[in-house]
Amino acid sequence: MAVWQALSDSPGLFGLAIGALGLIVGSFLNVVIHRLPIMLDRQWRIDCSSLVSSPLHAGEPSTSFNLMVPRSRCPHCQMMITAVDNIPVVSYLVLGGRCRHCKARISARYPLVEVVSAGTAAFAAMHFGFGLPALFGVVFTWALIALTLIDFDTQLLPDVITVPMMWLGILLNYHGLFVSLQASVIGAVVGYLSLWTVYWLFKLVTGKEGMGYGDFKLLAMIGAWLGWQALPAVILLASVVGSVVGLGLIVLRGHDRAQPIPFGPYLASAGWLAMLGGQDWFQHFFAPGGL
Ligand SMILES: [Zn+2]
Repeated sequence: MAVWQALSDSPGLFGLAIGALGLIVGSFLNVVIHRLPIMLDRQWRIDCSSLVSSPLHAGEPSTSFNLMVPRSRCPHCQMMITAVDNIPVVSYLVLGGRCRHCKARISARYPLVEVVSAGTAAFAAMHFGFGLPALFGVVFTWALIALTLIDFDTQLLPDVITVPMMWLGILLNYHGLFVSLQASVIGAVVGYLSLWTVYWLFKLVTGKEGMGYGDFKLLAMIGAWLGWQALPAVILLASVVGSVVGLGLIVLRGHDRAQPIPFGPYLASAGWLAMLGGQDWFQHFFAPGGL
């Protein structure tokens, strides 16, 4: 087909097409980031109340709420957001960052997530070039963006994203899309167990929980996609940046030291960089002469 031919011939055009798709997906990621934690919370409440066999809390809304239903509304005036006002980035700029009806400010985070989803996806697509690694590299990118912001907002890394993505990573590497199957399986296992070990050592020594099980699963997912060779650099990069930002928050804003700082955003960013860096420079960095 002429379109596929044009996309595979021109990296610029391919990047542009993926970038445009990224704007639309970014708009959907905004919905996922906002609604998924609420959906999980509702499900937990339902599960808990059925466990103690008491009827649902009286104030609990029982209407459907998922990624498709209900339609998006202005959180201020509750007016439905029409399709015209829901065009990624463009609508935000046209409306001057305000609701059409009540003129309440719309968070700049929505267009920002769309722009970042488009930019990172276009970058990854051009990095890999037309083909399956680009397609799945872009999927990996979008999953990391959703996980980053959900963890930032709620300190959760939902299993419904990390666990299927881990299995997908192993499946894709069955014939070595990114790394060998061996590297992928060991990556998933070591990714999980390394942080699991740190968690239990930390808990035995200090009696506190330093991180959550979501972090182990996120690192298992990264290991499944990029192989165990990427893990030392991912952990190192995430820890260094996380510590610097954490210390900065404590010093600058008097951030409560006991309050946990999510580790997921740092793991996710480091994982994304590791995907772009490939295995080569990690091998040179950690084991000159190869592993
Ligand atoms: Zn409004």
